[in-house]
Amino acid sequence: MVPSLLLLALTVWPEPGSVVQAPVPVIAKKAKKLRVVVDAGHGAPNNDGNHGCFCQAEMDHTWLIAQHLGFVLSDLGGFEVMFTRTGEGRPTYQSRMAAAEAWKPDVIVSLHSDARGEATTWKPFDDERECARNPNEPGFAVLWSDVAEAPVVAKRAKLGRSVGQRLREAGFRAYTGENYGALYKQDTDEPSGWIDIRPPKTSVYFLKASSVPTVIIETHHALDPAEVARWDELKTADAFALAVAQGLLDAAK
Ligand SMILES: [Zn+2]
Repeated sequence: MVPSLLLLALTVWPEPGSVVQAPVPVIAKKAKKLRVVVDAGHGAPNNDGNHGCFCQAEMDHTWLIAQHLGFVLSDLGGFEVMFTRTGEGRPTYQSRMAAAEAWKPDVIVSLHSDARGEATTWKPFDDERECARNPNEPGFAVLWSDVAEAPVVAKRAKLGRSVGQRLREAGFRAYTGENYGALYKQDTDEPSGWIDIRPPKTSVYFLKASSVPTVIIETHHALDPAEVARWDELKTADAFALAVAQGLLDAAK
């Protein structure tokens, strides 16, 4: 027979990535506000990003989550927020970075989702539309670049590690990185942290363009129906925003 306490623990213990919840960060009243650029990845000219398992566009996901993150950060009181794109605008990454740096932020956070591995097609709707699907390789990742002077790289790493740790603590599952191969190497300290190792010509512009600490958060795997369903829930966007907020505060210490 299973002892009742153990049974209770087994019943309520969350599967990694299945239950997400983050505490509301405590903001010191007199603290200087952190200036945060929130970049909704893609939505650049001819660049919608990936299309997920319900044919959803990455640029729409990133803009939704960027708005929610910006709203939560503003509401918490310890942050000032700038968006690099809004609504129908399709600014280039270069113009976003120029506008971001002119605003003199403390950090830049860019949101993306991944489309990983070998996909198959399926018809998720009551019509003939086909979308790509791969229910494997779930999880989030935090990306940064080590191309810069050592103090800049150290600040990027601190930011990436702080945010990654808080997301894991909130119940988000860290991606194993099995499909990152020659693109990123895993950070030595934070399992969700990945460092761009592409050659200079193909490495990610947004990660290396600024001396302002910058990270990309790959929120989830857009081809995985279970993760996409989870990201359609408000509580996921809430937990994400609160965990990122705490990570930003940790990195600023
Ligand atoms: Zn992307």
